Formats: sequence, structure tokens, C-alpha cells
Amino acid sequence: MQPCQAIEVAQPQSRHSRQARVVWGDRVVTVGGDAPVRVQSMTNTDTVDVIGTAIQVKELALAGSEMVRLTVNTPEAAQAVPHVREQLDRMGIDVPLIGDFHYNGHRLLTDYPACAQALSKYRINPGNVGKGDKRDKQFGQMIEAAMRWDKPVRIGVNWGSLDQELLVSLMDENSRRATPWEARQVMYEALISSAIESARRAEDMGLAGSQILLSCKVSGVQDLISVYRELARRCNYALHLGLTEAGMGTKGTVASTTALSILLQEGIGDTIRVSLTPQPGESRTQEVVIASEILQALGLRIFVPSVTACPGCGRTTSSTFQELAKQIDDFLRTQMPVWRHRYPGVETLKVAVMGCIVNGPGESKHADIGISLPGTGEAPAAPVFIDGEKRLTLRGEGIAREFQAIVETYIEKRFGSAGAQAEIHG
Ligand code: SF4
Repeated sequence: MQPCQAIEVAQPQSRHSRQARVVWGDRVVTVGGDAPVRVQSMTNTDTVDVIGTAIQVKELALAGSEMVRLTVNTPEAAQAVPHVREQLDRMGIDVPLIGDFHYNGHRLLTDYPACAQALSKYRINPGNVGKGDKRDKQFGQMIEAAMRWDKPVRIGVNWGSLDQELLVSLMDENSRRATPWEARQVMYEALISSAIESARRAEDMGLAGSQILLSCKVSGVQDLISVYRELARRCNYALHLGLTEAGMGTKGTVASTTALSILLQEGIGDTIRVSLTPQPGESRTQEVVIASEILQALGLRIFVPSVTACPGCGRTTSSTFQELAKQIDDFLRTQMPVWRHRYPGVETLKVAVMGCIVNGPGESKHADIGISLPGTGEAPAAPVFIDGEKRLTLRGEGIAREFQAIVETYIEKRFGSAGAQAEIHG
């Protein structure tokens, strides 16, 4: 037998990117370096619809998105951007807005200075800035706008809109190799070269390296991992991470989570987006919830109190336990936009909702507050544990309501101003 050794505690590796600043008004969001990995999202409203767009940005921001990207594709959309910003300011939503530009960004940023000013960051796709002679000029105009208005840019390459001239030249070069690379390896090289060469061109024009973020999005998990590992090895620009066109529902969630988790664990990625296609009727905020959950599950950020719930089994034949777990989880999430300010630190709360006595009391004791519901054949009583000790037992029809009230009281006492004062004077 091997000598006994302490087992290494797994944790994400540290990141080595440069730090950038995304500013709107008094609000500064630091990105990269030792700043927290940031959650980003994107609206799917017509930007011309100022009120509809502002409402969706507000929903995304309240769900936890720290930057929100908008489509800026027409003169009308560019004209709408400052009004969206004003509307958000009136609603007290100070989240920075990012403009997503393709094909005509050089004109829109030049012709609509109020739009250029109202945005906090510009996304530039080097594959969509123009062809031939025009490409460098139009890319340059966007970089000039970024320098004029002191805005950071994300040079965001996407394999669906890769610079075709670069790809063809790399394929030609590959065909002359003694042992040609696989087609996907050439595609990786094209993505990375396009991003890094564009960033260097922007730096040559005078844009600071700390004002540049890069992304190289693809839709395959293994492709994304390969590309970002190499991208991180070749440069230290802050990196925006996301699996493009991840898909819908479970498939999109699992694919994004798998890809992003592996890279984040390796210290790669400074901002993330989960590009989920919403199910019909599903809220756009789902992509923010999943992105936040990925960061929280990896221990990189804490956004909301965690609810530990067992999966249930043959010992939980009633739906009471599932209903309570969902109700508590929904309750905590819904309250967070208010609680975040009222109860500083509440996001560290741990709640357990367990289905029976097998693991219920044990798991509840590990949580700040936990309940172990009666399994099939057990006495109809639900012991509640607070700070590791059994404090009371709930019975009857109102268990869910009473437990929710107990959680609320606990939060007020521990994280409210009275609790904070008691801690200071205690
Ligand atoms: S705690 Fe009880 S109900 Fe939940 S999974 Fe374990 S045995 Fe089943």
C-alpha cells in the first residue's frame, strides 16, 4: 500500500490575462487579470424597440448579467442606442451596454457619435468588417472610434463568419506542407491568427492592449477547448469565452457547461456567455442563470444562496419534497435583486431540502439551514436544522410556507443590519 498523503484540493488555476475596464458612468466593470470572471448576455429584441430592449436588458441585469450586448445593425438601431441607455438610467439600471457590429460598424460608429458614446464596449468581428482593400480601412475606422471615445473592444472571431481570404491562404500554405494538417487544425489556426493579428493591428494604431479582449467562438466542445488553450498560450489579452450556437434546452446547457468548465478550471476565460436558444416562451434570462451557475459550481463566484436537494428516490413517493425544493430555490432567486443590497453576504447562505432520514439530517446539518422531509412510511414530521443543530419540527399542510418564513427570518437576523450590528458589537 502507498504511504498515506493528503489528497490535493482541486481548484481552478489562476488566470494570466491583462485587465481591461468597461466603464459606464460611475460604474466600472473590471475584466481579466485578477478580476472575477464576468457574466455577459445578449438581447434578442429589435434594438429599434427602445422600451422593449431596455426592459429585456433590465431583466438580464437583474438576473445577474454584468454586461449586456445589443445588436447594432442599422442606422435606426444606432440612433436607438442612446435612448436605450437613457431609459435604463431612468430605471436605475447601470449595466454597461456592448454594441455588436457586423459589416457596417465603421459607418455606424462614425455617423452616430451618440451611439458610440452611449456604448461601453464595441464587439468587432474581423471576418465581417469588409473584403479586400476595404477590410483594413474599415477595421481601422472602428478602432479609431474606440480610441476617440476611450472604449474597449472585443475582437470576436466566429467560425461561421471566418475571414475567408485568411482561411484560403492558410489552406494553400497547408497544401504545401510535407504532412498537411487536418482541415479542422487549419480552421483553428485561422481563428486564432485572425483574432491575434487583428488585435496587433489595433495596438499598432494606438489602442492599448488593456483595451482589447479576444474571442474565437466555435460550436463544438472539443474544438472550443483546443482553440482557447492555444489562444491563451499565444497571447495575454483578456478572453471572452462561449460556445457559439450551443443549441436549445438540455443539449445547449450541457455543451456550454462542459466546454466552459474545462477551460475555466484551466484558468482560461475572463468573461463568459452561454449562447442558448430559448425554448418557445422561455425567458432570455436562462442564459444568465446557467452562466452564473457554472461559475458558482466551480467555486469562482458566488451569486445566489445554494440549495442542496437530494434527487429523491423510492423513499419519496409524494411530490411534496420536489415542490418544496423548487419553491425555496425560486424564492431565493426572486428575492436576490433586493437582498443583494439589503443583506450583504446573503449569497453565501446554504440551504438543504432533503427527502428522507437516510441523508436528510446529515446534509441539513452541513447547511446553514436545512429541512429533512418525511419519506414514505416515516413519521409525518420534518425536522429543521439551523447552524447544524435541530431546532424545531414542522408538521401538517403548511410545512413549505413555515419553512420559507424560517429561512427569511434567519436571513434577516444573520445578514440584515440588526445581524450586522450584533456581529460588530458581539
Ligand atoms: S435522502 Fe432519502 S429520499 Fe433523498 S435520495 Fe437519499 S434516500 Fe432518497
